[in-house]
Amino acid sequence: MASATVENLIKISREKRLTKPVDAALIQKAFSFSKSAHQGQKRKSGEEYFNHSYQTALQLAEWGLDSNTISAGLLHDVAEDTVNTLDDIKNSFGEEIVFLVNGVTKLGRLKYRGTQRQVENLRKMFLAISEDLRVVLIKLADRLHNMKTLGAVPLQKQKRIALETDEIYAPLAYRLGMQNLAGELEDLSFPYLHPQEYKWLSENVKEKYEERLKYLEKVKIVVNDLLKKINISPAGIDFRAKRYSSLYKKLIRHEMNLEQIYDLVAFRIIVSSIEECYATLGAIHQIWPPLPGKIKDYIALPKPNGYRSLHTTVFCVDNKIVEFQIRTKEMHDEAENGIAAHWAYHDAKEKNVEEKPVFANRKELEWVNQLKNWQEEFLNSGESLEALKIDFFKDRIFAITPKGEVIDLPAGSTPVDFAYSIHSQIGDNCVGAKINNRIVPLDYQIQSGDMVEILIQKNKKPSESWIRFVKTDIAKKRIRSSLKKDHLPGSRERLQTEIKIIAEDRIGLLKDITSIVSRSHINISNVLTAPTSPVLTSIKFRCDTNNKDKVEKVILKLKKIKEIKQIGSKLI
Ligand code: MN
Repeated sequence: MASATVENLIKISREKRLTKPVDAALIQKAFSFSKSAHQGQKRKSGEEYFNHSYQTALQLAEWGLDSNTISAGLLHDVAEDTVNTLDDIKNSFGEEIVFLVNGVTKLGRLKYRGTQRQVENLRKMFLAISEDLRVVLIKLADRLHNMKTLGAVPLQKQKRIALETDEIYAPLAYRLGMQNLAGELEDLSFPYLHPQEYKWLSENVKEKYEERLKYLEKVKIVVNDLLKKINISPAGIDFRAKRYSSLYKKLIRHEMNLEQIYDLVAFRIIVSSIEECYATLGAIHQIWPPLPGKIKDYIALPKPNGYRSLHTTVFCVDNKIVEFQIRTKEMHDEAENGIAAHWAYHDAKEKNVEEKPVFANRKELEWVNQLKNWQEEFLNSGESLEALKIDFFKDRIFAITPKGEVIDLPAGSTPVDFAYSIHSQIGDNCVGAKINNRIVPLDYQIQSGDMVEILIQKNKKPSESWIRFVKTDIAKKRIRSSLKKDHLPGSRERLQTEIKIIAEDRIGLLKDITSIVSRSHINISNVLTAPTSPVLTSIKFRCDTNNKDKVEKVILKLKKIKEIKQIGSKLI
């Protein structure tokens, strides 16, 4: 590892930014500021705290980011973990850097604990509250270093952080076209998430892997001769082991049989042109017969994420099976770290409609496409990543509960909306709210990234004045109905519950739903279905019960039906 000197940091930044400016004085200033702020602090691993900030900044320099971002990387933990405040940073470094540092701090409040439903919201929120791509990149660099040093933190925390990395950070990196980073994050999480499998892999694969490398060295000699004969001088030949995380996924598909994995180590040939790719493939097939069905032309038909290459699996030297990947330098770079990589998700829309339910991804597609357009814009502008505002969620806000759960609300929403969207009871009983640990009025407008805590009092009724400031329909409806109920003397007791479901229709779906309900000894008195889109259908039914616990239990069971996208209930 290079030493933690500012000279090294500036040198890397200059190398990666090529002709673009580097503000060495600024980086120097941030370096000294952070170093003295973290003076004497140690990380769990025992290393100087500052080294973490330095490694984060170094990664940002490697990615070719601007000096403000590198400085913010150096300062990213100063406000959280030292006596210095955001104001101190603002006074010394100005608005832009404090904005970046503050963004990283806000992202740090998000905690993911493995609720499947929350994943997508969390990824979205991540982008929404970042407001600027550079904040995301600082956080990714921060996380990468944290993952490299995760061994030193307590076991419970290791698991949570590894899970968060695997399910939030790695997919985000992937969507930002940073496939290499995504793979690295997955691989770093893997031993923490699947310790047994990791152990099995490292015990069983290592030998196979070394044996394989020795063998491929032999193959390499033959390949070099072969290419010489057809006048191709390869730009590179290498073999790289498959990442453990993806090897594991593949092994699951092959009953954990390592013999079935031919690309344990992929043999890569990098040549200078597409013509040479095909010529190389032909030459290989002339001496080694290919396995039927294993020739893949991803140049003519790139993978959905833009991956291009020729793949073939052949009976090679000593009749052993080897997979070859043949591509140009450009294709190789793109596959390795191309920010130019395209998003796999786009594909779901055009192809595989029958296999992949479109709706499952429709909402996601929307924002992924926005992200993609925005990325293309950025690539075409030839600009650097400076000041790339993320504003495609501007009509939504994402707030979090004290437990780190994400609540998605329309812009302008208040704590009352937040309370009602968690549970109607919490809305009704709401008496106050804390935002980021400070008491606020109930008409406060929540900002993305705010942590909202609702203060409640049992038997408290909603106030009529709330109607004036709430934004969500659900809050309005609940407040009105609660007030109406109060005004009606001896108001009718509610005896029935209406359950509303939005689902992808399929034959037998309704039957599955109703049989689950009946098995819970709930009587259905009325069913109403209506298609809401070509793929979705809405199902409403009334149950003869007002027992909330019973209804909640049945809803939990219904949620296991994978076609069900949304489910809600109300007393009627
Ligand atoms: Mn950090």
